[in-house]
Amino acid sequence: MTARGHVKVEKVAKLHGQVAALKGVDFDIRPGEFFALLGPSGSGKSTTLRLLAGLDKPTRGRILFDGKDVTALDAQHRDVAMVFQSYALYPHMTVRQNIAFPLEMAKTPKTEMAERVEDAARKVSIQHLLDRRPGQLSGGQQQRCALARAIVRRSGLFLLDEPLSNLDAKLRLETRAELKKLQRSLGVTAVYVTHDQEEALTLADRMAVFMEGEIRQIGSPAEVFARPNSIDIAGFIGSPPMNLMKARLDNGTPVLAGRPLPLRVKQQAGEIVVGVRPSAITIGEEGMPARVDLVENLGDNAIFDLSFDGGLVRARGPDPLAFAEGQQVAISFDAKDIHLFDAASGHRLEAA
Ligand code: ADP
Repeated sequence: MTARGHVKVEKVAKLHGQVAALKGVDFDIRPGEFFALLGPSGSGKSTTLRLLAGLDKPTRGRILFDGKDVTALDAQHRDVAMVFQSYALYPHMTVRQNIAFPLEMAKTPKTEMAERVEDAARKVSIQHLLDRRPGQLSGGQQQRCALARAIVRRSGLFLLDEPLSNLDAKLRLETRAELKKLQRSLGVTAVYVTHDQEEALTLADRMAVFMEGEIRQIGSPAEVFARPNSIDIAGFIGSPPMNLMKARLDNGTPVLAGRPLPLRVKQQAGEIVVGVRPSAITIGEEGMPARVDLVENLGDNAIFDLSFDGGLVRARGPDPLAFAEGQQVAISFDAKDIHLFDAASGHRLEAA
């Protein structure tokens, strides 16, 4: 028997009238995996989650849970737990009643229901709030209540739609770590929608990067970070994202601002884009002459905006006071930190 919480999505497309919200996506989520759907607004993440939940039906393709085709099943027959961005709590019900709601729907016996509600509330530390109404809770407590209502179902599959986006920055960080621990301890599969690449990188075991209704790359955060497969992905992942500089190939050697770079590709000629992460740029006395345009002091590190004859770059350095605005410096980077992309297609080029 297949383990619980396996999700398979095959060639799933969704049209809203003329709008192709999803152009045909394929992915496989392993039991117990934390899988993020990451991408900019309007790229099809929520559409995908709603299709998994059964709140919408695909125009084409199949969805399988643990090997069973659920494509035609309505939400109430799918055994999934969903947490919405808005929490979707019932304001006139107590926390206890809100958490119990899915069990009421399933006609669970009263004593079992009471036990499971207490247990779910304990798992997110809101057992002392069970008699309050959502209006009497803080944003963070409402979020926990929504999580408890998902936990109480004891489903193997959690679907979460930007569940942290209504929390302030500090609480979001704390809750992010708790959510990951909770998912591990419950052993459930989690599908997590976010437009925040940092959230996806920190939470996910693997992620699918969505753009324009398509999945452009699937992999672990480390894989996608280390080898973005296109200019679009390179420009989306990382904070700040990778520097992308126009260059050209001369007999297979990339030439940036008139200087050959110390690597080669199979392709001989053409327009390319050279990518280097801000953390991989060294500011010092050797390399290409550059000028410090702006220093963004982040406390224990800084982002330096620099201009050089190849354009503008951002570098991340440990010491905000190391360089001043207006200073003439030099920038350099190692061959191992260079990413190359074909300018026309946007595809990654492999070093030969
Ligand atoms: P994301 O969650 O990545 O922000 P969505 O999945 O919500 O993106 O939307 C993908 C695309 O489909 C967008 O262009 C959006 O405007 C469109 N869309 C989503 N839902 C509907 C709908 N009910 N009717 C028409 N267009 C929709």
